[in-house]
Formats: sequence, structure tokens, C-alpha cells
Amino acid sequence: MKTLSRRAWILYALAALFVAGLGILFYTFWSNADDWAMRHANRHLYAGDTLTAAGSITDETGAVLAETVDGDRQYNDDRDVRTATLHVVGDSEGYIATGVQTAYQEELTGYNFVDGVYDVKRYGKGNDLQLSVNADLCVTAYDALGDEKGTVGIFNYETGQLVCVVSKPAFDIANKPTENINNDTTGEYEGVYMNRFFSGLYTPGSTFKIITAASAIDNISDIDDQRFRCTGSYGIDGGSVKCLGTHGTIGFERALNVSCNSAFAQIALQVGTENLTATTNALGFNQRYTLGNIRLAQSRFDLSEASQLDLGWAGVGQYTTLVNPCHMLMIVGAIANDGQAVMPYLVERITTQNGDTVLEAETTLGAQMFSESTAARLQELLRSNVENYYGDRRFRGLEMCGKTGTAEVSSEEGGDDPHAWFVGYSQREDLPYAIVVVVENGGGGSSTAIPVANEVMQAVDDLYGE
Ligand SMILES: [Zn+2]
Repeated sequence: MKTLSRRAWILYALAALFVAGLGILFYTFWSNADDWAMRHANRHLYAGDTLTAAGSITDETGAVLAETVDGDRQYNDDRDVRTATLHVVGDSEGYIATGVQTAYQEELTGYNFVDGVYDVKRYGKGNDLQLSVNADLCVTAYDALGDEKGTVGIFNYETGQLVCVVSKPAFDIANKPTENINNDTTGEYEGVYMNRFFSGLYTPGSTFKIITAASAIDNISDIDDQRFRCTGSYGIDGGSVKCLGTHGTIGFERALNVSCNSAFAQIALQVGTENLTATTNALGFNQRYTLGNIRLAQSRFDLSEASQLDLGWAGVGQYTTLVNPCHMLMIVGAIANDGQAVMPYLVERITTQNGDTVLEAETTLGAQMFSESTAARLQELLRSNVENYYGDRRFRGLEMCGKTGTAEVSSEEGGDDPHAWFVGYSQREDLPYAIVVVVENGGGGSSTAIPVANEVMQAVDDLYGE
């Protein structure tokens, strides 16, 4: 008995060691496998520092944006397309973190944990990736920004398909001006490796009044009966929130139309810190969003140390609040979609070289950001802004709803002129697209951002409208 039990014990001990050994091996492989396979020294995947074994990248129409031909990474024939799609495609060195050549590098090279670099060995390259964007639309948007820095993003707010994502400045990936970028003293290439749509954070200015208005609709029962007096500024605790004009005595809707800071500071004080914070939390501020492999910069709203005067400024989008453009697009899309947010997506499809689908985009619901009734009221208000203030002639045939912003920026944010914003959407049933435009230091939202939004939305209408 004694001998047997000792032998059994030794066997158990050996078995335990074996299992532990496997565990260590498995863990080591699991934690390092990506590095081993993706190491630049791995000649199956890389020659020099380029993605020679990556599959092709196409736009929604199948137009090739990047492909590997005889071991060479090549890009679209058209310089304008290469430049306008730089940030969604990504550079070959991996500086543009949210570009799919970096964020989807494993998928593009066909590397996966189970098969290793199986596809590459068999077919000479990895998976093909189709983007949701339309390259021509990206060119239109990039050109519409003119000489200014900024971003334009458009998505279908019912399906989540991002059809346009551009960030400026960019460069022609086939002729990268490395010297100019490295020795840039004029700021021409400032933030060139950042996709401002996914990674940018901006002071929202008056576009934030949409959010203050939502909180007012939810928390102030007689908001539509109230009158606000604007003498050009509104005094709070010895300071004041200033207006761009003198708006006289106006109601809630008119206050949003003319973007009256005095009225919206009064509204923010009535809503109060707690309610305004609750509204922003419901809309996903201070929350991390990921779209597939792409992380969005996190929008910030924090009134924890705000005075009453700060609360007034926060209500008009001029406190410490920062908003990511893609997040703002989700918010305005949720208004258009009766309160229900839909998650934007950039990757339409990933297929292996023998035609198997690895990933296919599907519509993913986000939070119910607004109640249906609040969304319905906001739809009326945003429509009223265009109909009664900006003018439908500035968006001919589009039936646009929206809000401009002229966001004053601190010197750290890069300049004296304010950022120009427009966020909005078409209310036409055949055109369920929402748009965000930010023109950095572009001046007035109405004078600068509306013409950009109109030009690109007209192209959206040509492409998708009935
Ligand atoms: Zn005013």
C-alpha cells in the first residue's frame, strides 16, 4: 500500500509538473505570439519597413486604395485620392495609429493565433479589407476644407456606415514629404499623423447648446414658455457670459436659432450642475468608445470644480469641455434616429485570399441617448435653425437640420481665430446621413463650416439620394 501510494503520488506530481509546463509554454506563446510573427525581421511579412505581405484595401465601390504587387506596396493612381484617404488607409510606417494599415495590421497580413502566418505562406499575402468610405466623397471633403486644417465625417445614422472620413493636413503617401514634415517650423504639418476625426478633441462652442437644450427639455417643464432677456451679456457672480450680439427678449427656440449665450447661460443655471452632468453622461462623455480596432479620443465634461459662472460658460460650450468629432457625429445621429445611437463603422468587410469572409460590418446599436420625445423636440429645433436662421438656400434641396459653433480657443489649442463647427443631418427619408465639420481656426461656424458641409452633403445626395 505504502509503495503504491508513493508511486501514485510521484505520478501525480509528474503530471502536475507537465500541466504546469504546458501552461507556461502556452502562456509564453500566447503573450508573445503577436510580436514573434509581426516582428519586422520576419521576412514573410515585411521587406524593409513596408507592408509587403498585406492584402489590398479598397473603398466601398471596390476602388483600390492600397495593394501589394510583386512585393511592392502600391497606392491608388490618383494623387488626390491618396491624400484624402491617407488617414483611413494609414501610412506604411505605422505613425497613423488609427489607419487600417496599423489598426488592422494583423487582419491585413492574415496573421492569426491559430494558424500563424498561414495565409501569407500559402497565398503570398494576407486578407483583403474593404473600407466603408467612398474615396471620391473623401476627395470632395478634403478639397472643401481648402487651405484650413480640420476634419469632415459623415455616416449613415441608421446603419452606422461611415462614408466620408477626412483629416487635414495630410500628404501623398506615394510621395511622402518626409523632410518637410520633420523640419516643419510653420505648423503646416502640425498633427499630420493624427486622424482628427477619431483622435481629435475640440472645444465644442455653440454646438454644445444642443446638449444644454436636451437637458432643458428633460428638466425644465415650462422651457418653451420662458422668455430670456439678452443685453449682450449675462452677469453671474461678478463675472459675465458674453454674447456675440444683443438679442433682446427671446424664447427657447429663438435662443437656439440665434445661438444666444445669455439665454443659454441662464438655461444652464436653471438646469444645474447635476442634471447637465447626467445628460452628458447619458450621451457618452467621459466614456471610452472603440469602433472595431479603432479607439476614439474620449470627450470630456467635468463640472466638479465649476463655479456658477463656469456653469454658465459650460452651457454654451466654452468651459473645459472637449469633444471628439466622431462622438459628436454619433450624438447628432442619435437625434436624427429618434434618440437611438448607432455605432459608426469604418471596415465593411475582411476576406481571405480564397474568398472566405472573416469579418462583415453589421449595424450595432449604441445607447438610447435621448428619449424619443426629447429627440423629436430636438429634431424640430435643429430644423428650425436651418429653416428660420441659416436659410434653406444654403443647403439647397437637402432639408438640413443642424447647429453651427464658433469655438473660442486658448493659445494652447493653437491660435487666435475660433474653430468653426457644423453638425447636422438631412431629414429626408432617402438621405439618412449626418455630418460633422470642424475647421480649425476657421472663424465663424456659419460663414466657414456651413459652406463646407453643404458642398459635401450635396455630393452625398448625388451619390445616395433618390
Ligand atoms: Zn444673446
